[in-house]
This record gives sequence, C-alpha cells and structure tokens, in this order.
Amino acid sequence: RAATAEESSATATQQRRPIPAVLGADLEVPVKGGRLVGYANLDYAASAPCLEPVSAAVTAALPAYSSVHRGAGYASQLTTARYEQARHTVRAFVGARPDDAVIFTRNTTDATNLLAGCLPEGCTTVVFDTEHHASLLPWPNAVRLAPPAFPGEAVRAADETLAAIDGPKLLVVTAASNVTGELWPIAALAHIAHRHGARIFVDAAQYVPHRKLNLTALDLDYIAFSGHKLYAPFGAGALVGRRDWLAAGEPYLKGGGAVRSVGESVEWHDDPEPRHEAGTPNVLGAIALAAACDALTATGWTELVREEERLLARLRAGLASIDGVRELSLWGPDHPRVGIVSFTVDGYSAREVAEVLSGEYGIGVRDGKFCAHPFVRHLLGASDGGCEDGTASAVRASIGIGTTQEHVDRLVSALRDLVSR
Ligand code: PLP
Repeated sequence: RAATAEESSATATQQRRPIPAVLGADLEVPVKGGRLVGYANLDYAASAPCLEPVSAAVTAALPAYSSVHRGAGYASQLTTARYEQARHTVRAFVGARPDDAVIFTRNTTDATNLLAGCLPEGCTTVVFDTEHHASLLPWPNAVRLAPPAFPGEAVRAADETLAAIDGPKLLVVTAASNVTGELWPIAALAHIAHRHGARIFVDAAQYVPHRKLNLTALDLDYIAFSGHKLYAPFGAGALVGRRDWLAAGEPYLKGGGAVRSVGESVEWHDDPEPRHEAGTPNVLGAIALAAACDALTATGWTELVREEERLLARLRAGLASIDGVRELSLWGPDHPRVGIVSFTVDGYSAREVAEVLSGEYGIGVRDGKFCAHPFVRHLLGASDGGCEDGTASAVRASIGIGTTQEHVDRLVSALRDLVSR
C-alpha cells in the first residue's frame, strides 16, 4: 500500500533529529574582577564551533586511517572509501549536478584561488566591491562594480557590464554577505550571466551554514565554502562546479596524486579532483565537513532557519532600541539576511566596543572591516585610508547553532550599559 502524504510527512518528521549541540557550549571565560562567566560566542561568521556529531565522526575515523587512493591495505581502503563518501555527501548537500566536480580545498580562499587559476585564456571576471577579499582579489583580469543601491541595480549592473565584454567571462557574487548578512539575488544573477554566455561563481561561505543551497535549481556554475564556518574544524573546504575549466586548468598543486604518469614529460590527470588535489589530502577534514553537512540535513532547514530567525529578530530589535547603535545595511533593514549583524556605536571605536564586550561581559564579537575593506568603507561612508583604523570599522555579531537567547540579551544589555556610561 502506498503511503499517504500525511504518513510520509509524519515519517519524515520522526526521522528529523533535534538541533545538535556544539562543543564548548559550557565554556567559561574570565571577565573584569576575575569572575568567570559563560562565554557568549557571537562570532560564528568568523568560525563556527564544532558540532558534536562532527567530533564523533572524526573520533570514529581516527583509529584506522592511512593515505587515500594509493594503498591496498585495509586502513587505506577504508580511508579512501570514507574520503570519497565525504565527496558524495558534499555533492548532495549543495545539490550539485551528477557530473560536477567536487574538489576538497583548505577553505573558500583556497577554492577561489584554485578557480582563478583555471579560467580560460582571456577570461574577464566581473565582481562587486561588496565581496570578501577571498572573492574580490584572486581574479587576474577583473572588472570591479560599485556596491549596488538595491538588488535590481545589482542585476542591471551585471547585465550591462557582461553585455559589453567579449570572450569568456565569469560573474562573481556572494550569496550572503559576511558584513551585513544580506542575501544576494543569485538566481537572477545566474540567469543574466548565462544570457550573456558568462558563468557564475557564488561564494557560499556565509550562506551554507544558514540556508539550504541547491546549485542545480539555482543554475550556478561554481560555488565554494569553508568547513570551519559550517561547524567543522579548520582546514577543509570545497569548490564545486563544472568540470571543463577545472579539467583544463593548470594543476593547483604539483605533486603526487595529480599525475597519471611521469617520465621525460608529465601527464596530468584530466579529472579535476585528482588534478587539483596533489599530496596527501586532509581526509579527517573532509570527513568532518561531510559530517557537518549530514548533521544539518538530518536536523532540517525549517527548524534551523526558524530558530535563527527568532534570535536574529530579537538581536536586531534590541540593537534598534538603543540610541547610538547603528546597524549597517546595503539594502535597508527589511532586506532578508542570515544571522549576521554589523553595527557601530556612537562615541566608541569598534575595537573599544569589542574589548569591553569581551573583557567585561564575556561576549565574543568581531571588529574591523571583516576582510571586506571596500564594502565596509562604503557602508560607513568612509574614504580610503588606514584599513584597520578605529574610525572606519564596525562591530559584527553573528549567530548560529549554539547561540542562546541569553547570549543575545546579554549583548543588547551590555551595549545599553556602554552607551549610557
Ligand atoms: N567568503 C566569505 C563571504 C567569508 O565570510 C569568508 C570568511 O570570512 C571567506 C570567503 C573566506 O573564508 P576562508 O577564510 O575560510 O577562506
């Protein structure tokens, strides 16, 4: 008997797992006066804490590992199977096409640099000045576009610029800003890019920890993200996308594993995965990254997004209620965003605010320009100049799994105290 829709949905609900715990949730840190307080980590956009299932997956893989792809021994075979399984998991997690390459990298920066080295001869890259430096700087021949005043302006600027460029072209855009959390119209930009025969690369570093991404449905050509922002430890990320440019590009690293044969001349692998993954790969990093993907999928995005939006709304309302605290935004307060908020506090430098929050309240936030100097300067109306100077910097609070209402309330009340001093 076929299951009714109601039964199927009940089964799916039963299979969902609760939101997993993060490691270090009970960490206590010293504050002024020598007291210990629970650490309020509001710096997820820099690096998110590790999920318990991720730690468990790494622990399970530790007793028997060996180098992948080259050994007949049991440990090597097991490790190879786990590594390739991790690749499948990442592929499914981002909804990649069956023939897309999935290359393990160190992080997003590594991925953008890898792709930049594979662009076809004469390729022009079009990139907005709102990008993180990882997606702004690697491109050899880049046309930089000013921050658009509204989302439709981004599409129009991309349209006009791509139309005027001959030859191969790549549009680069972030899915969710690491400064404001704002979501970019990536589906519309992909459509425009393809209309002009261009490809699109999406920096998904701040998107995949917060929202389900489906590369196929959005018709994206390439995406990249970092494991350490996705609740896995440092050192593993991924570049996913179309094989042809990656198969033709210069191997990212030259060495063992990337070659088919070496004699007088060298025959490199055509498949992008071995071609760009020379040397012993970060297998445990890949396993951790895949375990994070699995844990998020098992919990379900509806639940994750609901909880994040509840806390984000509370945080933003709290900040808006304090005179002298100003949230930064490119497209206005109502534009959808993930759990990242940057702000300034009148009368204090960003560094002063971050130090008080840490030293007196046990709250971890980021201050500075968040590796997005042109964008932060634009948001602050600042001119070029010293990059990490206190006058043209902001404070960033970012949330995720493990953030509690108490953390959010503590930040808001600490800022209220600060402005009333
Ligand atoms: N892209 C965005 C949007 C980011 O927020 C970051 C990191 O902050 C990066 C790229 C670079 O990531 P990674 O330092 O892991 O290479």
